[in-house]
Amino acid sequence: MIYLDTVFLSTKIFVILNYNFMSKKKALITGISGQDGAYLAKFLLNKGYEVVGGERQNASGSNWRLKDLDIEDKVKIVPFELLEDSNINDVIKSGKFNEIYNLAAQSFVGSSYKSPILTSNINGMGVTRILEAVRQFSVKTKVYQASTSEMFGNNSDKGKQSEETDFHPVSPYAVSKLYAHWMINIYREAYNIFCCSGILFNHESPLRGKEFVTKKIVTDLAKVKYNIIPSLKLGNIYSQRDWGYSLDYVEAMWKMLQQKKPDDFVISSGMTYSVKEFINKAAKHYDFDLIWKGKGLNEIAIDKNSKKTIVKISSQFFRPTEVDYLYGNSSKAHKILKWKPKTSFDDLISMMCQNELKKFS
Ligand code: NDP
Ligand code: GDP
Repeated sequence: MIYLDTVFLSTKIFVILNYNFMSKKKALITGISGQDGAYLAKFLLNKGYEVVGGERQNASGSNWRLKDLDIEDKVKIVPFELLEDSNINDVIKSGKFNEIYNLAAQSFVGSSYKSPILTSNINGMGVTRILEAVRQFSVKTKVYQASTSEMFGNNSDKGKQSEETDFHPVSPYAVSKLYAHWMINIYREAYNIFCCSGILFNHESPLRGKEFVTKKIVTDLAKVKYNIIPSLKLGNIYSQRDWGYSLDYVEAMWKMLQQKKPDDFVISSGMTYSVKEFINKAAKHYDFDLIWKGKGLNEIAIDKNSKKTIVKISSQFFRPTEVDYLYGNSSKAHKILKWKPKTSFDDLISMMCQNELKKFS
């Protein structure tokens, strides 16, 4: 009797263990130290995934974003360098991943003019390296590629941009991403690999890199308020962007890989605002009441109460070529993925400003 009980119990344990093993999906997130990598890791952990994060050797170091989200000890970090074929092959061959989210990139448009070759190699060739590794060693693994609205560039249609809109990239960054975007299409068609591109419009958060305009605005306005710097200096404040919240957008990435068929999707908020509108809304959180004066490089914003110059324009921050207008149409994602953004533009700005202000309280 005792023997039978033991057999029954061990079979039960085996079944439970085996079930857990079978049911737990394993994902590789490249660029885990970045904004989206951190939010996606948290999102997938909440879904019960085993999360492996790819990180390059000279990574920014502290993994402050994972710490901020309190998940640093919940993800396994492996060395992952998009410039190195053998490294990518090893990770993908041995990892047996159900899903790979390729979020790693030289992601800043501004730097892509200074380092066009490096940008092309990381963002373009890096994706081919991943796809080749999947094709050779792990053909059942699903791949998500971080494409971008920058690929639409200066398409002269002034309507909203959807999956049907022609691409007209105008920066080395956008060209490198378009190369990767087409490679995803080719590997899907030619080799039947489940790979998708999410054409994501700008998305921000308190974890956004400091070189991007929204983060720069909210941090520098706080520094101006507390007299750490005299003013916020910017380039083109008339470009328009469709800004959303990163945490909302990582859900769409995951949903793309849960579909029956691989496909590409535009992910956007469906609203567009100028950089200047972002500044005006953000300034209110710092009790600045801005009045704009002058034109071009002489344009400034003055605080009505203190008469202090809060914003100045500097030629240093203009780009050699600019995307003037981004405005997304995500109706395909609404329909097929049942995805919609949850966070409004005003709430996003409020969240980012509060996060900066609390550093001074
Ligand atoms: P981040 O700049 O915050 O993160 C980029 C990540 O890529 C970092 O972890 C960085 O590592 C890593 N990385 C850079 N170079 C390499 C390399 N050679 N090998 C391996 N890893 C590397 O970007 P986001 O999280 O904001 O964006 C995620 C992805 O989505 C990017 O591909 C971006 O281009 C794309 N995208 C982003 C949009 C946005 O608005 N945020 C809009 C559309 C697309 P390290 O910490 O070492 O620098
Ligand atoms: P992008 O859309 O991926 O290039 O995201 P960014 O946040 O870098 O830039 C958004 C817009 O803000 C672009 O049109 C920039 O030209 C404009 N911009 C104006 N001043 C600045 C600045 O000082 N820094 C950055 N990053 N962008 C600026």
